[in-house]
Amino acid sequence: MCLVRMRRLEKFRLYLGLALLGAVGSAYATGQPYRLSDFQTVAKFDAHVHANTQDSALVDQARADGFELLSINVDYPDFPSLAIQAQIAKDFRAKDIAHFHYATTFSMQGWTQPGWANDVNAQLKAAVSDGAVAVKIWKNVGMVERDEKGQLLSIENPVFDPVIAEIEHLNIPLIAHQGEPHNCWLPLAQMTTDNDRSYFAEHPHYHMYLHPEMPSYEALMAARDRFLGRHPQLTFDGAHMASLEWDVDLLAHFLDTYPNAVVDMAARMTQLQYQSVRHYPRVRRFLLKYQDRILYGTDLTANPEDKPTQVSRDAHSMWRSDWIYLATPAKQWVAPIHSQVKGLALPRSVINKIYHDNAIRTFLQRPSPLK
Ligand SMILES: [Zn+2]
Repeated sequence: MCLVRMRRLEKFRLYLGLALLGAVGSAYATGQPYRLSDFQTVAKFDAHVHANTQDSALVDQARADGFELLSINVDYPDFPSLAIQAQIAKDFRAKDIAHFHYATTFSMQGWTQPGWANDVNAQLKAAVSDGAVAVKIWKNVGMVERDEKGQLLSIENPVFDPVIAEIEHLNIPLIAHQGEPHNCWLPLAQMTTDNDRSYFAEHPHYHMYLHPEMPSYEALMAARDRFLGRHPQLTFDGAHMASLEWDVDLLAHFLDTYPNAVVDMAARMTQLQYQSVRHYPRVRRFLLKYQDRILYGTDLTANPEDKPTQVSRDAHSMWRSDWIYLATPAKQWVAPIHSQVKGLALPRSVINKIYHDNAIRTFLQRPSPLK
């Protein structure tokens, strides 16, 4: 072969190589999905867990599966005391400041007394100085706490105004769980997912269908929305898909109305899967359109009485199953909705945001007035 021809051939090979590289590159750019084998190596962030024990099974499994964690302290009677939750969070953070983050909370005890908001604000400031990156408000506001006349405390009550002002000043997001899943207001037989059905069968005092004297779902959502309307500067993280988990169109409207709001997916994946089994393109379009506003989260909880091996197994299995659903096109059987569920195969760039970047932006890249 003459030299010139050889050079031409090399040139052709080079072009072919570049063209192939280009094709692969553009495939990734246009959204070639991740595979299951990418699960452990892609950087991920679970923005809603509860590490309620010094045992490190949950944190160790997160490290093994490539997750950073946001552990959320909650004023929930079944959890350890707020002081213990805070200590556990501080201890885990001290051990791994790069991967373990936490949200503080506050007690409603004494909220009708003067000075309550000042005390809460002092506690919030101290917690943020200690490293807390958000604050949680729970459904006891709206559904449990009452004033001296027996009236339920609403999130709209002006008692919260100074606290919200302090949260805005501290420049941290408010993680809010207001209301319950829509299923909570339905009879057990009409609920769309077995996980809701078994939870409300076991917790009848939270099953609103049985308590017509309590506020309706619509009333709680409307109060939350009016609250947001009154605090347009607040960065708001609607836990559990802002309790609009049952209809992506309603959630889209919520996100359009409140531009400072994001939502986490914690404990509501089956409701999303229930919808995508019936309206696959609608759910996929929703996640693509709101790819900057959705945080991956699970609600995985490690309590002192839990067996560490079970905690690890449950965490790995949930994280892996959610990855298959969101990141890959694979089908899997989802028992709580009795369905074969096709994966959404979201583009890599979208998965990177939902699984990581949105949480980093929301919790970790905010200038603090305390520094
Ligand atoms: Zn939770």
